[in-house]
Amino acid sequence: MKMCKCKNLPKFFKSDSSDSYFKKFKRIDWKDDAWVKLIKCPVCGQHWQLDEWDKYQTGLAIKIKEPESWRSYNDKDVRIDFLIQNRGGLSDGICAWQGCNNQALKGLAYCPTCAYEKSGLRE
Ligand SMILES: [Zn+2]
Ligand SMILES: [Zn+2]
Repeated sequence: MKMCKCKNLPKFFKSDSSDSYFKKFKRIDWKDDAWVKLIKCPVCGQHWQLDEWDKYQTGLAIKIKEPESWRSYNDKDVRIDFLIQNRGGLSDGICAWQGCNNQALKGLAYCPTCAYEKSGLRE
């Protein structure tokens, strides 16, 4: 691999360990019983967090700016951002969860946070 496309890839996108793009990347670290890995591009040195492939989960590749603190990095905001992006944004409605006044996701009764935390929605 002489060239890479890290620069042109978005900050996060749907992907996992079965993605051939990441095959040659060096594994730096892992957590959550190795379901999440920190890998590094052999060409440009960009760090990525990559999910292990799982039939029942939505895997993401996420650019990591500070690999030193990756172990304490919380990817929840990015996963919620992905959810919003994947659903095409927010609707004009208000979340149906009691006591929540956030805007609902497009085509859904709940806001991104409630959908993520309470109903386990990932995409
Ligand atoms: Zn790269
Ligand atoms: Zn809500």
